[in-house]
Amino acid sequence: RTVLRELTELQMKNPDISPLESLPDTDPNVFYKRYLKKIRDLGEGNFGKVMLYVYDPANDGTGECVAVKSLKHEGGGHHHEGWMKEIEILKSLYHTNIVKYKGCCSELGGQVVQLIMEYLPLGSLRDYLPKHRLGVAHCLLFAQQICQGMDYLHYKRYIHRDLAARNVLVENKCLVKIGDFGLTKYIPEGDVYYRVREDGDSPVFWYAIECLKESKFSFSSDIWSFGVTLYEILTHCDPRQSPPAKFLQMMENVQGQMTMMLLIKLLEKHNRLPCPRDCPHEVHLLMRQCWDFDPARRPSFKSLIESIEEIRK
Ligand code: ADP
Ligand code: MG
Repeated sequence: RTVLRELTELQMKNPDISPLESLPDTDPNVFYKRYLKKIRDLGEGNFGKVMLYVYDPANDGTGECVAVKSLKHEGGGHHHEGWMKEIEILKSLYHTNIVKYKGCCSELGGQVVQLIMEYLPLGSLRDYLPKHRLGVAHCLLFAQQICQGMDYLHYKRYIHRDLAARNVLVENKCLVKIGDFGLTKYIPEGDVYYRVREDGDSPVFWYAIECLKESKFSFSSDIWSFGVTLYEILTHCDPRQSPPAKFLQMMENVQGQMTMMLLIKLLEKHNRLPCPRDCPHEVHLLMRQCWDFDPARRPSFKSLIESIEEIRK
């Protein structure tokens, strides 16, 4: 019995060791490629590509819309393992403010796997906000929902590591959900942070100071990224005010090899993103708390939920 329990615990901590191929045919999480009809592209990031499909096994037009994510450069390699982990993580999450896992579609005996998620018709906050000028109260509603999803993620001992407006999806005008768990990591009980190896395509302008300097990712570094996401929301994801645009401006547009070093220097001198136009002082103060140099002094998602509640009153 101990062996069984250990195995279960092991599988929980390393969800990628339970093989997907062994699922029975009747499994509602198994999608067949022949019933998937492509509608259009939804978007892409560094590693993944997401497309809208209709899944119509009855082949009578009664199918449902689903979002299908696949690895951009499929065909094995070192990304495959991380990709299977991303799928297993999403599979284990159930929360109103987290995109719902629907299943998988495997080909070539599991060498190529696509992730099937619910389709969120309004796209990411990056697509939505520039087209719909939200008032501050509405921005804070979305911000609070992101905190709720993140608080749940942290309670499950996962750190997201890529919280940004592009990774928050809009279901309708009063509901947003966190999507994209491609960089999410499990923090074992007792550990405080996760240290990454060399990583070229990092979203550095969303990173906390200790992530840039020491590659140390923790629950508190997600809080920093939430501060940047809050900034994005209050600037309505205006590309001219985006975090990269603003930081590059502050470092006088020197790019390339120097970027990381100059960004660290800026942050060490306590330079931060500016207060967005029409952003209330209390909301800017929250951002500044999220961007505290000392990770221990940053708020938790629980306390952010309360602070935002107070401001919304
Ligand atoms: P990556 O890991 O490559 O960054 P994401 O999971 O962030 O991929 O998806 C890329 C983009 O696709 C998102 O920014 C969003 O615009 C769109 N997208 C992702 N998932 C969905 C979904 N479930 N419904 C609608 N659009 C989505
Ligand atoms: Mg993404």
